[in-house]
Amino acid sequence: MRTILTGVRANEEPTIGNFLGAYKSMISLAHEHAADSNINMFVPDLHSFTTPIDHDKLYDQVIKGVKYYIAAGLDINNPNIHIYRQSHVPAHSELAWILDCFTPFGEASRMTQFKEKSEEHSNAVTVGLFNYPILMAADILLYDAEYIPLGEDQFQHLELARNIGIRMNNKFDKGLFTIPAPEEEQVKFMHLEKGLRIRSLVDPTKKMSKSSENQKSKISLNDNPAEAAKKIMSATTDSEGVIRFDMINQPGISNLLTIEALLNDRDIQDVISDWAGQTSYGDLKKKVAETVEHFLADFQEKVAAISDEQVEAVLQKGEAYANTVANTKLAQVQRAVGVRK
Ligand code: ATP
Ligand code: MG
Repeated sequence: MRTILTGVRANEEPTIGNFLGAYKSMISLAHEHAADSNINMFVPDLHSFTTPIDHDKLYDQVIKGVKYYIAAGLDINNPNIHIYRQSHVPAHSELAWILDCFTPFGEASRMTQFKEKSEEHSNAVTVGLFNYPILMAADILLYDAEYIPLGEDQFQHLELARNIGIRMNNKFDKGLFTIPAPEEEQVKFMHLEKGLRIRSLVDPTKKMSKSSENQKSKISLNDNPAEAAKKIMSATTDSEGVIRFDMINQPGISNLLTIEALLNDRDIQDVISDWAGQTSYGDLKKKVAETVEHFLADFQEKVAAISDEQVEAVLQKGEAYANTVANTKLAQVQRAVGVRK
């Protein structure tokens, strides 16, 4: 049975960028494929402190992360849907070490996200920040996952995971790891034309990021809905004076059109035609602000209805499954590298 897998780091409050780029793609794929695929939605909690966080809040943030998966629409009663924490499946860290030893330093050094993040957090650049794409490769390869719904920013890391898997298969055993599909195939599988990148509301040439310190740049999933609407109203646009979808010259406007389409489950082309030729940025912002306000109020109501006990039960089931699959694969790899008979 094929495996589709994704996760959202629990370092900070997730944004609508995470919701649209990762949660929503995964949930629609789950609806489409859960009858004949494993749907692994895990919380990469060990990735959470590659950059500094408040550790007193981490545990609750992880539990909330699981509630978000459920509130976003994952059917927890489906036996093929598995929700688990990375930290509760020790094989992730074990495999990451082995993969480290088969990853050329130069190749890992080419990750552009490391360069960006180490500039952003220049006083706290750790080995963990450098190494996290290799732990991510372990997260994927342990489960023989083929499809990994991700935002555009993560495709370079996916490519690294593919390279590591291919290299180990060539060295040890062609059947050791299933190699995840390449970027073009992933995008097609998600029914997209290209990877999704929701932009910062302050600087729309950059992506919206949950770790950004500028609260105005992002809509977090726990934002007060009315406050979030205000952030949309003050989003950076441009001086072209006409509403067009043009990510190069009008990234702010194009970002708003994208958010409007995706949060309403509408085709982006239809939304673009609705607004074609119109000139009032204020009207567009008002519409998107209403959409965001509505979405957040509804989502937060769903989150509040999920109990901690429900989360515990889901994790217990998911982690039992994940440990079985991951330990089997880890033992196979340990045999291949010669530490187990
Ligand atoms: P951080 O700033 O902490 O790295 P992030 O917002 O980039 O936070 P991640 O935990 O790194 O979030 O990524 C989780 C998932 O969300 C990944 O699949 C990533 O591609 C997707 N994602 C993150 N930001 C966006 C965005 N702006 N648009 C679309 N998808 C996104
Ligand atoms: Mg990120």
